[in-house]
Amino acid sequence: MIVLLEKSAPAGADRALLQLAAKLGLPGRSLSGSWGRQAVELEDPIPASALRVLRAAAHVEELLTKRPSYPHAELEGEEGVRPVHVGELVIGGEELVLAAGPCAVESEEQLEAAAAAAARAGAKILRGGAFKPRTRPGDFQGLGVAGLKMLREAADRHGLYVVTEALDAADCDDVAEYADLIQIGARTMQATSLLKAAARTGRPVLLKRALSATLDEWLGAAEYLLDGGAPGVILCERGSRTFETATRFGLDIGVLAAARLRTHLPVFADPSHPAGRRALVLPLARAALAAGADGLLVEAHPDPSCARCDGPQALLLEELAGVAEDMRTIGGAVGRSFPAARSPRAAAGS
Ligand code: PEP
Ligand code: MN
Repeated sequence: MIVLLEKSAPAGADRALLQLAAKLGLPGRSLSGSWGRQAVELEDPIPASALRVLRAAAHVEELLTKRPSYPHAELEGEEGVRPVHVGELVIGGEELVLAAGPCAVESEEQLEAAAAAAARAGAKILRGGAFKPRTRPGDFQGLGVAGLKMLREAADRHGLYVVTEALDAADCDDVAEYADLIQIGARTMQATSLLKAAARTGRPVLLKRALSATLDEWLGAAEYLLDGGAPGVILCERGSRTFETATRFGLDIGVLAAARLRTHLPVFADPSHPAGRRALVLPLARAALAAGADGLLVEAHPDPSCARCDGPQALLLEELAGVAEDMRTIGGAVGRSFPAARSPRAAAGS
């Protein structure tokens, strides 16, 4: 059961209520911070005599006897999206956000070209993996911490934020040192020790949906992050495994829209991984924008034919301007906006 306290309750009212509950033999914990007011979760079942005492206790507004499965991640009433802040960037507000860059960090030159093109197109976040979850051990695994440093430096040169994947709990502190937003990948969405470690860093998290996760499982993973102290979670739909071979994964527009109805978390779409090939990226991006995505995570590479990972689906850098144009026009049709492209001079920060 959740006990909601009055909005005007003084600081510490949640602790006082927990003490009262403890006297009644009811274990519980504070949920304050996640409900926009103080709140306490008490373990069910609660005897009727205890319910009477709790209902009459100081500053108690409401006892929610039907316990939500995801108290931090689920919507409370009709409130809509609660924006997540990445530095000064607002994700989940009126303005759509583009994160773009290569699948994997490969070299300074590659990142410099990608960051310049991303900034020029109006992206606010540079993406790129330094720890890569590859199918085969012989495949390129990423440059590790050296890659994180390159990512940070390229992003700083172009006024961009950084998103990059933490693949293992042991990577989280390094990733948090160099990145503004920690990406949890589809393959590790349910690695709970990784989720807890990412949350402990205090960085916001971009949480990909696992290849076969239901919305409930996705929200359960978000709940681990928020419960563990992550200041914000952005969901990212990246397609699930289907029988179809014409695409790499099935981008689930339905679950993207359903997530929007069920949670206050901003929802991104990654059109690159479900596309699997360049020609499908823009159509999928458009569908996701029309369905209400708050932003896109898109792969782009200065020379996809030489990419060490996911070359076939990487956009050419000049194609990022087309993604931005779609964000402007389709965003405009669904009540969102996307900033005008920056001039090359502004993008270079000079
Ligand atoms: C990626 O973004 O490069 C990536 C590995 O994504 P996913 O976890 O969705 O496969
Ligand atoms: Mn990739």
